[in-house]
Amino acid sequence: MLNCEICGKLADKHHIVYRSQGGVDFPLNFKYLCSEHHRGVNGPHKNRKIDLEYKLEMQGRLEKLLNKQFYTLDELVKLLKINKGMLKKLLKEYKLYKEGYKKSDVVFRLMGRKKYTKYMLEEYYDFIARC
Ligand SMILES: [Zn+2]
Ligand SMILES: [Zn+2]
Repeated sequence: MLNCEICGKLADKHHIVYRSQGGVDFPLNFKYLCSEHHRGVNGPHKNRKIDLEYKLEMQGRLEKLLNKQFYTLDELVKLLKINKGMLKKLLKEYKLYKEGYKKSDVVFRLMGRKKYTKYMLEEYYDFIARC
């Protein structure tokens, strides 16, 4: 049984990049959250700020983990603990260089074809301030 990363209660598996946003099954995209921290007011499904923070955190982890410019499919499978066939399909839309796939393409795709920036959080705060 897994416990909530925030409070330690029994947890559900949350996809940081939702499957509806193009998120995929691999450990870095999972966050274990109890029902309150998952679907409650302080959970990512109800709280846009928390949602963004989790996504920025995940993107940061990916950037750190992939510290080279290019990766082969096998290297990615090993590092990300991701299903090879699925990853191959995901990366089909990106160029395969002789050195491998470009790190930035891989991160972009795993984040649901989106680049998250701290600026998005600031925008959120501005939005709240104006309400
Ligand atoms: Zn919790
Ligand atoms: Zn969820």
